[in-house]
Amino acid sequence: MTKWGSYYWIVLHTQAMCYPTQPTTVEMERMVRFLDDFMELLPCTLCVNDMRAYMASHPPNLGSHIEFELWVHDCHNHVNLKIGKPILTLEAARHRLLLRLRPMRPSRSRQVWYMVLMLLMVIIAAFICLKTMV
Ligand SMILES: Cc1cc2nc3c(=O)[nH]c(=O)nc-3n(C[C@H](O)[C@H](O)[C@H](O)COP(=O)(O)OP(=O)(O)OC[C@H]3O[C@@H](n4cnc5c(N)ncnc54)[C@H](O)[C@@H]3O)c2cc1C
Repeated sequence: MTKWGSYYWIVLHTQAMCYPTQPTTVEMERMVRFLDDFMELLPCTLCVNDMRAYMASHPPNLGSHIEFELWVHDCHNHVNLKIGKPILTLEAARHRLLLRLRPMRPSRSRQVWYMVLMLLMVIIAAFICLKTMV
């Protein structure tokens, strides 16, 4: 399977994370429409068929934030099981998701390299300036 899958899962898990604790009827209806369309638009016919069957036997649980989060989690685990990937607990999945959504920062060693590089550039620029002045 190509790389699209993990980005699609991020969208679904993020939708669940941002879903209201006490959704209104309108919000629930919107999410039903979103999920129906989203699953139909997966770029893989096998996945679309599988999701149609899964949603028919496990209708999205949209009563609250936690119920929807669990539904997406179980749905992800259903696919993981089907394609031989590890099944995650909700805690482990939350932890991994938050790590992935964290803003990317360069590592400590890379930061040190950037500083050394900048320092070198300043020294070279100063050297060139001095040379041209003499
Ligand atoms: C709706 C949907 C249906 C799919 N159906 C199929 C299919 O039928 N056949 C197929 O081959 N591929 C399918 N895919 C793609 C497949 O699920 C993977 O996305 C793909 O194999 C890439 O896997 P990955 O290792 O990058 O991690 P992914 O499974 O894409 O997961 C992305 C991240 O989420 C974390 N994660 C894993 N499990 C959970 C969980 N239960 N809850 C929360 N986070 C979790 C992982 O740690 C990982 O970092 C589907 C994708 C989607 C979005």
